[in-house]
Amino acid sequence: MTCLHDRHIKPLILADLDGQNWHLEDYVKRGGYESLKRILAENITPEQVIAELKSSGLRGRGGAGFPTGLKWSFMPRQFPGQKYLVCNSDEGEPGTFKDRDIIRYNPHSLIEGMIIGGYAMGITVGYNYIHGEIFDAYLRFEEALEEARAAGFLGDNILGTNFSFQLHGHHGYGAYICGEETALLESLEGKKGQPRFKPPFPASFGLYGKPTTINNTETFAAVPFIFKIGAQAYADIGKPNNGGTKIFSISGDVERPGNYEIPLGTPFSTLLELAGGMRGGKKLKAVIPGGSSAPVIRGDVMMETTMDYDAIAKAGSMLGSGAVIVMDETRCMVKSLLRLAYFYYEESCGQCTPCREGTGWMYRMVERIENGHGKLEDLDVLNSVADNIQGRTICALGDAAAMPVRAFIKNFREEFEYHIEHKHCSVPAYI
Ligand code: SF4
Repeated sequence: MTCLHDRHIKPLILADLDGQNWHLEDYVKRGGYESLKRILAENITPEQVIAELKSSGLRGRGGAGFPTGLKWSFMPRQFPGQKYLVCNSDEGEPGTFKDRDIIRYNPHSLIEGMIIGGYAMGITVGYNYIHGEIFDAYLRFEEALEEARAAGFLGDNILGTNFSFQLHGHHGYGAYICGEETALLESLEGKKGQPRFKPPFPASFGLYGKPTTINNTETFAAVPFIFKIGAQAYADIGKPNNGGTKIFSISGDVERPGNYEIPLGTPFSTLLELAGGMRGGKKLKAVIPGGSSAPVIRGDVMMETTMDYDAIAKAGSMLGSGAVIVMDETRCMVKSLLRLAYFYYEESCGQCTPCREGTGWMYRMVERIENGHGKLEDLDVLNSVADNIQGRTICALGDAAAMPVRAFIKNFREEFEYHIEHKHCSVPAYI
């Protein structure tokens, strides 16, 4: 794991980590649990905690970028029954591998963030749903929970106050769809992990039908640092409307793939440099900037873009979870789309017709083109199928499957046409 940045701002979540110093003792030495202690000792009210979070401008780091303070304010404080706090650590999107490293290397930042969340929203029970294919991270989380409980940071009467918060780890079994928040809740309840119709939204009808707030791992892990350095200082790290640091998981054709925590608004060229540049000095062809569902962007456009929610949207894609997939000049765009189309076809839960049938249809058409049996009309049919999936499904997986198809064809149409016409790839490596 590397924690570099371009403006001499120390990374927050990934600072000073060596793989061994994840224990409570090490976290406390780094100033851990100071934010929680201060909030409880100085009687900072839950309303003040939420107001501070709103001022920090923290946006959800799981993909949607929704303002976290605003989300926390939706939790009905006076609700008479049980309410729940849930962390979504079910990262399964191709290219995304940051949450597992937060849990492996700095689990107490996540635990402290969740405890502060529980305090702010008047919630006494929380769960962290961890992707089933990273079982070592689940075990690490359980160990860290034990440490926090033993030290009095977690459980009944935290630090001698009348505030209690119970937190539990839960591992899934690796289904991508369980990263969708309502499918996650179904799975947590012990049912088949399939998305629910919305509304009602989890804030009013969540886990076991009770009000529930769900945030991503990185979002919770950022919370203690906001209270440590102050909301304004946190907001000032990034750009307006894009405050703070963000962990980018960079993979693909770079010399040093890994997780890099940098200020939002850092130029993509700087991130690429941190990752050691293009592997073997090859030319940049394309980048998927925010996990596999984010539309692919041409390399030259990406080199002019900064890494923040607004700039990436302006470039025609999404920052998403911050999973940056870099492709060099030797990558075949048809083959790349085929891999993604297969993933979404395979991971569709099958509940709604446009997604269930459409993902298979798109996959088979791209496969035909890749294997030299495509027709030019296929490109229009592919776009049409994608259009008829997007916005017409229960959950966002339908959109996630449709968007790459449209973007690959739009940005690399000539390559698809060459494949169809010549029945093979135009990229020398594949001929
Ligand atoms: Fe399931 Fe796909 Fe419908 Fe989502 S969009 S509910 S994954 S069938």
